[in-house]
Amino acid sequence: MPAIGVLALQGDVREHVRMLQEAGASAMAIRRPGELDAVDGLVIPGGESTTMGKLAEAFDMLQPLRMRIKEGMPAYGSCAGMIMLADRIEDGAAGQQTLGGIDMVVRRNAFGRQIDSFEADLDFAGSPLHAVFIRAPWVESVGADVDVLGTAEPGDRIVAVRQGSLLATSFHPELTGDPRVHRYFVEMVVNTVRDQ
Ligand code: GLN
Repeated sequence: MPAIGVLALQGDVREHVRMLQEAGASAMAIRRPGELDAVDGLVIPGGESTTMGKLAEAFDMLQPLRMRIKEGMPAYGSCAGMIMLADRIEDGAAGQQTLGGIDMVVRRNAFGRQIDSFEADLDFAGSPLHAVFIRAPWVESVGADVDVLGTAEPGDRIVAVRQGSLLATSFHPELTGDPRVHRYFVEMVVNTVRDQ
């Protein structure tokens, strides 16, 4: 059973822990560099990406997180977590700290101007999924190595991507009770551990 941490600096941590357990992982909230050493993969939850970046710095987690991601640790970012995994962001706060890793441009609060929160039916990795968006970002553009796993109306925007061992969604699968996105990520972690 893989050990998967949920970055617990800020955001909806408990829901992710529950969904990961349902998807067959051993899951725990983590906020210290030492705790990061004990996990095979990491979920970065929704919340507020500026605050999360500041707290990661305050808890001395920025460099350890960047290093583990560079070394190939699987990570899944939802909403604010997607922003944290983006190599480039639009409409970020001044000096906003991210982790990077996925070759994409993410626009913060992108759907927010039209509609603050909404639900949509979309295709995730080829199967239908009901998704919840809360002041969500969208992906403006992706590099050649990034797979698009889902798009959503309005505007047929990119809302789910994968690059190697990194996964990101604009939406919150921990809120709908459908464990497929978490199962997909747990499988990514299992395959990475197996290949090491
Ligand atoms: N708008 C938030 C941000 O910029 C993300 C919202 C969310 O995670 N639900 O970080």
